[in-house]
Amino acid sequence: MPELRKDPVIGRWVIIATERRKRPHDFQVTGEGCMTDTSSCPFCEGNEGKTPPEIIAYRNGTPPNSPGWSLRVVPNKFPALAIEGGLGRVGEGMFDKMNGVGAHEVIIETPRHVCNYDVLPEQEIEGIVSAYRDRVIDLKGDDRFQYILIFKNKGRDAGASLEHTHSQLIALPIVPKRVSEELSGAREYFGFKERCVFCDIIRQETQDGTRLVAESEHFILISPYAPKSPFETWILPREHQSSFETIKDEQIPDLARLLHLVMRKMVDVLGDPPFNYMIHSAPLHTDPEHYHWHIEIMPKLTHHAGFEWGSGFYINPTPPEDAAEALRNCDTVCQP
Ligand SMILES: [Zn+2]
Ligand SMILES: [Zn+2]
Ligand SMILES: [Zn+2]
Repeated sequence: MPELRKDPVIGRWVIIATERRKRPHDFQVTGEGCMTDTSSCPFCEGNEGKTPPEIIAYRNGTPPNSPGWSLRVVPNKFPALAIEGGLGRVGEGMFDKMNGVGAHEVIIETPRHVCNYDVLPEQEIEGIVSAYRDRVIDLKGDDRFQYILIFKNKGRDAGASLEHTHSQLIALPIVPKRVSEELSGAREYFGFKERCVFCDIIRQETQDGTRLVAESEHFILISPYAPKSPFETWILPREHQSSFETIKDEQIPDLARLLHLVMRKMVDVLGDPPFNYMIHSAPLHTDPEHYHWHIEIMPKLTHHAGFEWGSGFYINPTPPEDAAEALRNCDTVCQP
C-alpha cells in the first residue's frame, strides 16, 4: 500500500510509492566523466584570467588572480542578479516588482581539475565550509540583503554548466519562499510545543535509528521522514543554531568529515549521480529560537512531472528507511 507522509516542518505531503518501489541498484547512474584537456577550464589554476577578478582567495602569499591558491571566490560571469543599485520597489497596478539586486558568487573549491566532490581531501572541504562562512559574514554588512543561499550543482542534470567542482552563493533582497515556508512551519510548531521542530527531529531520529545514516560529535546525517526525492539526506548540527554562519571553528572539520562521508556513500550506493545541495539558514540579522540551520542533499534520480508541478505533492519511489539502510551499510570504509 502506498503511503502519504507529512513533512513535520512545512506540512507538505509526499507519496511513498511502495508499488513502484525502487532499490538502490535501480538507480545506478554512470557519471559524466571529466575532460582531460583542461586548458580552457576557467576554474583551473593558471587560468585565473578567464574569470572576473577574485573577491577572496586562500593563497600562500601570491598576488591576487595569479596561481598559488587553494580556493578562490569570484563573481559569477553570468550573474542572475546585479550587485549595483538600489531595490526600487514599485507597484504595477496590483503587481509588485523590484530591481534584480543581489550578489552571485562562485566558490572554486580546488585549483586542480577535479569533477567529483567525494575525491576532494577532507582538508579542502574544511576550506570550502570556511569560505562559505567568510562570505556570509562579509555580505551581511550590505543591508540590502535579507538572505544568502549557498548551494551546489553537480552534473549537467543538476544544473551545473562547468564540471570543475564549485559551489555558488546568491545574496537576495528577499527571503526565498522555501525558507519562509520552513520558518513559518517551525514557528507554528514552536508556538504549540515550545520546542524547536528540528531539535525534536534530531532527538527522535537519533533514538529511533531507522533513518539515521551517520552521526558525529557535532552533526547527524539522516534520511528525512517525508523526502521529496529518493536518497535525499539532511545534515543537522546537534546543538541548536539558527544561522549557518555562527558555526564554531571546532564544528568545521566535523562538518567537512560528514559531507565527505555522505558524498562517498552516495557514490558507493548510486554510482555517480548528479546532485544539488543547499544550506538552509535563518534570514540575516535574525536568530529565531524556532529555526535550525541544515544542509539538504538531493541526488537527482527522478523527474518531476505534471502531478508534482500541479499539486505540490511529490512521488518518491524509495522509502527513506530503505535509503538510510543502504547508505548506512555501503561498502565504503567511510565511518566518521
Ligand atoms: Zn578545471
Ligand atoms: Zn533546534
Ligand atoms: Zn530546509
